[in-house]
This record gives sequence, structure tokens and C-alpha cells, in this order.
Amino acid sequence: MKCPKCQSELETIKFEDIEVERCVACRGLWFDMLEKEDLLKLEGSESIDIGEARVGKEHSKMRDVKCPVCSEPMISMVDRDQDHIHYESCPICYGTFFDAGEFRDLKEHSVIERFVEMLKTLRSNL
Ligand SMILES: [Zn+2]
Ligand SMILES: [Zn+2]
Repeated sequence: MKCPKCQSELETIKFEDIEVERCVACRGLWFDMLEKEDLLKLEGSESIDIGEARVGKEHSKMRDVKCPVCSEPMISMVDRDQDHIHYESCPICYGTFFDAGEFRDLKEHSVIERFVEMLKTLRSNL
């Protein structure tokens, strides 16, 4: 499989039991449907995102990105909680591509959010 952004090879990496594809050059991450959601729940999963956010930011501006699985044009999405995170989503296979640094960013936010939720629950139980 080729990286939808820079056409380099995607290599398979594994976190716990979940396999993700990562570009050997730009370190962008490809998630099959629901893999991203599963990974976000796992502690330490941000360690798969080893790329430089600087490179990711440049790639984030790219348009006309095609799905590495079905070659369909992907849709540019904005994360609903963090509108500075732009990623690509395939309308056919529901896979998503995150540029380097974006998954880490998303993960940090969801950890904080979970912590806030926990505090709210604690407070309401007092
Ligand atoms: Zn790449
Ligand atoms: Zn696809």
C-alpha cells in the first residue's frame, strides 16, 4: 500500500492487537474503519505517531488525496472537538489518514477530556 500523501510505502505497525499502516517517509498514519476509535481508548497509543508535526502540517494542506485502499478521492474532515485537526476520510471503506502529529494531538485531547469527565462525575457524587 502507498502513502496517499507522498506515495512512499506504508509499513504495518502494531499496537497491542491493532495493526495500523504508517508511511516510512512522512510518518502519516492510515487507520482502517474503527481502528482509530479503538486506539484512542488504549493508553500509550500515541507512541505510534512518531513523525514531525511540522511535516504533518505541510501535508495537511494537500487536497485531492486518494484512498490507498480503494483509490477513491477522500473527503477532508475536521475533528469535531479540535477544529485544527484535519484528516482525510474515505467515503467507501471509511478508512482515515492522519498526518504526522495529528493522532498525537487528537489523543492528548481525548485524555484530557476523559479526565474532565471523571472530575465531573466525582463532583456530582459528592
Ligand atoms: Zn507519506
Ligand atoms: Zn477507501
